[in-house]
Amino acid sequence: MSKLFKRTKILATIGPATFSAEKIEELIMAGVNGCRLNFSHGDYIERDQQIAWIREAAAKKGRSVAILQDLQGPKIRLGNIKDNRYDVHVGDELILDHAVTEHDGSNVIPIQYNLAEKVKVGEPLSMFDGKIKSTVIDIVSKTAIKIKIENEGFIMSHKGLNLPDTDFGGDIITEKDMADIEFGASRDFDYVALSFVQSADDIDKLRQILLSHGSTAQIIAKIETKKAIETDEAMEAIVEAADGIMVARGDMAVEAGAEVVPIVQRKLIAMCREHGKICIVATQMMGSMVDNPAPTRAEVSDVANAVIQGADAVMLSDETANGKYPVETVKAMKKVILYTQNHSHVSPINHEVTGEFKNYDAIAGGVTQLAEKIGADVIVCQTASGATSAAIAAQRPSLPLISVTSNARVAGQLALTYANSSFVRPYSENYGYDLAVELKNSGYLQIEEGKKDILAVIISGHKDAVGGSDTIKIVRI
Ligand code: PEP
Repeated sequence: MSKLFKRTKILATIGPATFSAEKIEELIMAGVNGCRLNFSHGDYIERDQQIAWIREAAAKKGRSVAILQDLQGPKIRLGNIKDNRYDVHVGDELILDHAVTEHDGSNVIPIQYNLAEKVKVGEPLSMFDGKIKSTVIDIVSKTAIKIKIENEGFIMSHKGLNLPDTDFGGDIITEKDMADIEFGASRDFDYVALSFVQSADDIDKLRQILLSHGSTAQIIAKIETKKAIETDEAMEAIVEAADGIMVARGDMAVEAGAEVVPIVQRKLIAMCREHGKICIVATQMMGSMVDNPAPTRAEVSDVANAVIQGADAVMLSDETANGKYPVETVKAMKKVILYTQNHSHVSPINHEVTGEFKNYDAIAGGVTQLAEKIGADVIVCQTASGATSAAIAAQRPSLPLISVTSNARVAGQLALTYANSSFVRPYSENYGYDLAVELKNSGYLQIEEGKKDILAVIISGHKDAVGGSDTIKIVRI
């Protein structure tokens, strides 16, 4: 079964191309483990519809599918532009004015944020995913700035702005985010992703806000600003504060330069594994499939590299939100993941067990080694909080991990974790042969072609267990 079980997960963005119960079900059947709702677009009525479709399709498949709320954060956007297009040329001077609501065709362009209060003359400003570059040359009024364009092209309504050198004063959670967080808390999302994180403080602030709304959603820090990746220490502090990170390669390339992205990606995946946190690699992984039915060689290689580096999940954005081939893209991605995992090896990380007795890491290392050495087909982990499962997944086992938990919330929050699938059932002291049989009868365990039985390593704990998990059983069914 291990060859057909995809260990690297797929997170797909839901959008106009997948706005129906059927399409969402097809995505999940094709291999999607989590759905990303991008709160930069859409309204709450649409959201509720999508949430219902995702939960219905997951229940139908009998698997946990995570829902990730992606907060817009301080993404500054242009306002409405006349006829949705304004051509720009080298040397053009534009006024970006927050007080203007409608564009009249002139060089005065509306923007959704008052940049005059934040920017300084000489700072770079790019628009439309970095396609148009410019420099701030004047602060014209209390609401308007003047920029000088550096290349040919055009801008369109609501396209995003990037200001990599501008200091926004450390306050990255906007009023819109606050309203979206409250909405998300009432819908019980599994993960909340925070855009344009600059430091661990941003994560701590979001955690307080979530808790004040009664939400225990896990926090995914989107790594995309220059400040977040300035030093390894800065990155690591964010990894430690968050429950996981997203390598947000789109904005990162614009803010810090495309050339930094591959190295930052590698470092972040390694740091997440070291700390047992989720790592999602995002943006343009299969970008050409927005228009074409097959990926390019470079895209296949990009997905394969994320798998070899040991990412927990790879993400699709425009491909599934707006593309012509959303389901085909998921199928193509799954094919690459399966082939790569079955023909490569992700090296284990030795967590340092220091200070107090770190049961999870020590047990996880032992269980994974044992299972690999005896040629087991599966590791089964009976877990209350999910911590032992996360620690086993951080070892990047080359076999599937099934988490048995009584808590549907824990199951949802393990849906993007490497190699994991979750089985929700009440806790029981009976976790040997009978549990394996139950898993087999529920379709979780399958005998591999050419084999006559399943060898499972089961890890669990008793009520008085030292540090949670204390017993390993090996069963053959
Ligand atoms: C990114 O910039 O790569 C990203 C994932 O963020 P968004 O899609 O919200 O711009």
